[in-house]
Amino acid sequence: MALIVQKYGGTSVANTDRIKNVASRVASYHARGDKIVVVVSAMSGVTDNLIRLAREIMPLPNEREMDVLLATGEQTTIALTAIALHAIGVPAISLTGAQAGIVTDGVHTKAKIRNITPRKVHDLLNQGKVVIVAGFQGQTADGQVTTLGRGGSDLTAIALAAALKADLCQIYTDVDGVYTADPRIVPGARKLSEISYDEMLELASLGAKVMQSRSVEFAKKFGVVFEVRSSLNDNPGTLVKEETSSMEDIVVRGVSLDKNQAKITLVGVPDRPGVAARIFKVLGEAAINVDMIVQNISHGTGAPTTDLSFTLDKPELLKARKVIEQLQSELGFRDVISTENIAKLSIVGVGMKSHTGVAGKLFETLANEGVNIDMISTSEIKVSVVIDLAHGEQAMKAAHKAFLGS
Ligand code: ADP
Ligand code: ASP
Ligand code: MG
Repeated sequence: MALIVQKYGGTSVANTDRIKNVASRVASYHARGDKIVVVVSAMSGVTDNLIRLAREIMPLPNEREMDVLLATGEQTTIALTAIALHAIGVPAISLTGAQAGIVTDGVHTKAKIRNITPRKVHDLLNQGKVVIVAGFQGQTADGQVTTLGRGGSDLTAIALAAALKADLCQIYTDVDGVYTADPRIVPGARKLSEISYDEMLELASLGAKVMQSRSVEFAKKFGVVFEVRSSLNDNPGTLVKEETSSMEDIVVRGVSLDKNQAKITLVGVPDRPGVAARIFKVLGEAAINVDMIVQNISHGTGAPTTDLSFTLDKPELLKARKVIEQLQSELGFRDVISTENIAKLSIVGVGMKSHTGVAGKLFETLANEGVNIDMISTSEIKVSVVIDLAHGEQAMKAAHKAFLGS
């Protein structure tokens, strides 16, 4: 008998037939005597639709109200899943994030989990019930509804697995596991049988939306081994776990493409100490995550100025522009330019630590494709480049072929 946390994503609960399918899989584990906690996402498209509705009313809706709105998506699915289990004779009960004891900080729309008190979940499991928990949501200590950032149901599942000391954590999705690249873009992508936390973390934060990056960070921190697998078949999935020495034999484990990036350039920024500090402090205070930063010194006549560019998540562009524009008179930069027509291509692998020439090979591959590189950043286990959005998929396929052979 095991305690298992299973998470089903949006496509896996997209309609009532899929929900019935989830119920029968859960029932088969329950029949073995396992204790099952099921975490579900909103039905596919529902969260996007709720966001669209709010933005039809105003472009930058209040974030507290967005959380109240978005949390309804998952609330629909928990009840439907419980009903589907009742329909086949399995005792089940649904819980909101708050009822499941998930307490977060107060950063609306991307709250962090502070702690989980899973007493109620344990009690219900001990009564023989399947416990169905709404993914992506929690509650602050003073009772405000919060959500955990897009894709946040993964985090709910992994954090619950850690808090409950689960024997197994399974992330059910619409692909057979983690692939060397998004199989919807790169037909030659291959399923990986295992991947290290660090590689998964890089791939996830660089655009492979198969796992939410914060959930992988959490899994690494608390040593939660989890499996990514399909809800549509019984194929073995991908195990995400601590790095093993044999993993280093492979230089590049995967390629990812993030089309959800935007770039802001501040033109003519006075070149004096403290300016960059001020800009990024204010962005940080507005909870805007900045990724790559590039500064070009201008060598013209007159007082020295620089152009400062940085990338961020597309949905935050409007908010970031607003914050930046408020600094214009104080800091005296000339102009703010932004674009959404960029993509970030990355190659990732722990084997890069012990191999050289990887970045050069990527740049050469892109040059052969006629793709221009706008920004570059590297770490021990990844190389990322910002390129034109229109060339993103072509560049990704070429990089996959160059490093992974198909
Ligand atoms: P869910 O709704 O189950 O959370 P997501 O849509 O968030 O599912 O994530 C699954 C999708 O992630 C897949 O359909 C696939 O297109 C995409 N994806 C991107 N990169 C990868 C990758 N390296 N391996 C597998 N899937 C990937
Ligand atoms: N429903 C949320 C989203 O679409 C959370 C999730 O699916 O994991 O982002
Ligand atoms: Mg997801």
